[in-house]
Amino acid sequence: MTTAEKLAKVKCFLLDMDGTVYLGDELIGDMKNTLNAIRNSGRKVVFLTNNSSKSACAYREKLERIGIFDERDGIYTSGMATTLHISAHFPGKTVYLVGTDALQREFEESGIPLVEENADIVVFAFDTSITYEKIRKTCDMVKAGAYFIATHPDDVCPVPGGSIPDVGAFLELIAKATGGKRPDVICGKPFQAMGVAVSQFLGLKKEELLMAGDRLHTDIMFGVNNGFFSLLVYSGEATREDYAKSGITVDLALDSLNDIVPYL
Ligand SMILES: [Mg+2]
Repeated sequence: MTTAEKLAKVKCFLLDMDGTVYLGDELIGDMKNTLNAIRNSGRKVVFLTNNSSKSACAYREKLERIGIFDERDGIYTSGMATTLHISAHFPGKTVYLVGTDALQREFEESGIPLVEENADIVVFAFDTSITYEKIRKTCDMVKAGAYFIATHPDDVCPVPGGSIPDVGAFLELIAKATGGKRPDVICGKPFQAMGVAVSQFLGLKKEELLMAGDRLHTDIMFGVNNGFFSLLVYSGEATREDYAKSGITVDLALDSLNDIVPYL
């Protein structure tokens, strides 16, 4: 099948945000026009993030502030993927959640029973309000045999002026403190749990989804691992040299997402 034939099947663009549609607070090129062209081609736009510390509402506020959110669009976080994964596979099971207040509200709204001890499942999310007590409880319950879920694998989260420790860094700490316990499932990019959850949520088949992003080992491998159309953009992290050396084959590579317009 040609690239054009594959692209003709796509009904939804899953978009990484930083490095793909904006850099910090700056839109990349004429992104407003590009996103409108995607929407006007009859395709849905869904912004996708591994960051489980903020709610979809917080992302919507940012996207509205920089002028690129449309009422038809969706926003999907690894935290939402985790609640869907638990609701689908572990209905009624109790969860000890290490996460922000925003994520705790999402779990409560999903009807997932949250407990402080003897949980069936421990969920470790990006918790910018983490305490030593939460780390200790996590290790105790994981050692006691709780099913262990991490929302996403990123080691660090980029912030203005640098980066801060993210879930992946804490997973190393937990492994060291528990005799090598690792998550049973990691939901976010590049793994499949978020891909399965998002395709079910949207009611679309894998060939009807396109993943666009600037990171080879998260965004692009997420597309590859889930059988989505993979679109690599060189407007963020990955360079042409990185791609050439990666051993990964994408469906399409472009200077930026803006260059998709002639293909629509
Ligand atoms: Mg990115």
